Amino acid sequence: MKEVLKAVVNVFLKMPLGFMVTIKYFFRKPVTLDYPHKKRPMAPRYRGRHYLERYDDGTERCVCCGLCAAACPADAIYMEPEENEKGERRARIYEINLLRCIFCGFCEEACPEEAIFLGHEYEFSDYERSSFLWTKEQMLVQHPRKDNPFKRIYRRVRKAYGAPDKIS
Ligand code: SF4
Ligand code: SF4
Repeated sequence: MKEVLKAVVNVFLKMPLGFMVTIKYFFRKPVTLDYPHKKRPMAPRYRGRHYLERYDDGTERCVCCGLCAAACPADAIYMEPEENEKGERRARIYEINLLRCIFCGFCEEACPEEAIFLGHEYEFSDYERSSFLWTKEQMLVQHPRKDNPFKRIYRRVRKAYGAPDKIS
């Protein structure tokens, strides 16, 4: 008799209560995304993959000064310089080892030319270790970034006064 009562309570009380929880969430907006078809926008200050920037005339901004490599706490940046056809200095080799990189953004902070920046992309997983050694060609942007001029002014002022905070 006791077992029968227990079964009746389970079927007519506990199971409907469980279904109520399911039904309650069934009509709510899902918290998950249909990744990779839909992607959640990253926070404005998120630091993802690196890019090397160009000037408006297409010239590479990086002059291979080595300050980013000196600032890098993970020793992830390697470069070798050369001169372009106008005799200007640029990087012949510029590599970042993404397996060492901790995405701290110090390279971006240290760069006097605003040549390197960390974007929002985070999808660069792979099976081969060699795929994580990113070259200049992989990082160099096709077209100069349309940056907000006020952000650049803000960065220069911040650098001049050594303020620690940053904007993206
Ligand atoms: S983000 Fe940080 S760790 Fe990565 S390359 Fe730049 S300075 Fe080095
Ligand atoms: S990215 Fe900037 S700091 Fe690094 S070598 Fe090029 S110009 Fe210098």
